[in-house]
Amino acid sequence: MQLATEFKTLIKIPGGAEGQRCFYPVRLDPYGKGCQHNCSYCYARGLLDFRKLWDSNEPAAVDIKKVRHIFTQVFDKGSTRNKFSSVLTNKVPLRLGGMTDPLMPFEEECGNTYELLKILKEYEYPYLLLTKSSLIGTEKYLDVLDKNLAVLQVSVNSLNEDMSAKIEMGASSPKERLWAIQQLAEHDFYVTARISPLIPIYPDGHYAAGGKDSGGKRFDYFSWELVHEICKHKASSVLVEFMRFVNFSHQWLGEDVGDDLRWMKTDSSYHKGGAVHYSKEEKRYYFERVRAICNEYSTEFSVCDDAEFEYFKEFWSNQSDCCNANGKVKGFQNTIKSAEI
Ligand code: SF4
Repeated sequence: MQLATEFKTLIKIPGGAEGQRCFYPVRLDPYGKGCQHNCSYCYARGLLDFRKLWDSNEPAAVDIKKVRHIFTQVFDKGSTRNKFSSVLTNKVPLRLGGMTDPLMPFEEECGNTYELLKILKEYEYPYLLLTKSSLIGTEKYLDVLDKNLAVLQVSVNSLNEDMSAKIEMGASSPKERLWAIQQLAEHDFYVTARISPLIPIYPDGHYAAGGKDSGGKRFDYFSWELVHEICKHKASSVLVEFMRFVNFSHQWLGEDVGDDLRWMKTDSSYHKGGAVHYSKEEKRYYFERVRAICNEYSTEFSVCDDAEFEYFKEFWSNQSDCCNANGKVKGFQNTIKSAEI
């Protein structure tokens, strides 16, 4: 097993737009240099692949003893010289799974995330865990997760098993992920279903112009039925992040499903931050319709939008947090913004 070397530090506080926008930008990834799920649209893969730092067959593991050392220094020895002291002593929640999935298949062999969860429990430290693995719903992980510290986000983007097997090829199937959501909910965890990315069904402008649900060229991946299923599986909330189109995702989607989706972009779409985004009007249609379905089940809803950020704030169930995590579990009292670090 190699040790991850692409992270200059084990705990990463991103700067730039991401650091300013996100309420939970402080990342701790137990694995690096590749994710076995190898999703066609993965942004981290896009960032690392061209630097030859992405190997989905052989991801690397961080040295978890170094993570323990940081916690010991800050919490047991009261060190204020550690560069993470102010973040950690303010209990700013950590994001596990910002760059790679912490529960990819390699976890069953290596166990880094399991060990990390034990450390976080011991130090009563809050975290947000993002995954596409049903491992999170198994007894072993239900036991080590802490419902007072954990906000769990399970991504499920499609009910189409065949397409999912091609687009998120190493991840658990949609059925398995829905099962995991229900397991977590029934064990009283705060679990958000992330539709991330929401890959639209029709080209930009279709719905905004009054288009219907049938006819024309379409991409059968996301579906409205998915939202119903998520709610029926008792997710606490739904979080939607719309697809942003970049060259690498066109290329990998073309290779993986034989459709690069370039036809989705129209004159209504626009460039921002190195990606092409659907028009605000078209996104609004999707957000309104997903929210309406959530409302039928009294499921909370929120939007994460890196192009326009607060433009869609009206859709946030929690007006002070687009992840809709703050205050949902006991440990989530601070965001990076409220802690003013
Ligand atoms: S699971 Fe997440 S990190 Fe892993 S390849 Fe897919 S999008 Fe990237």
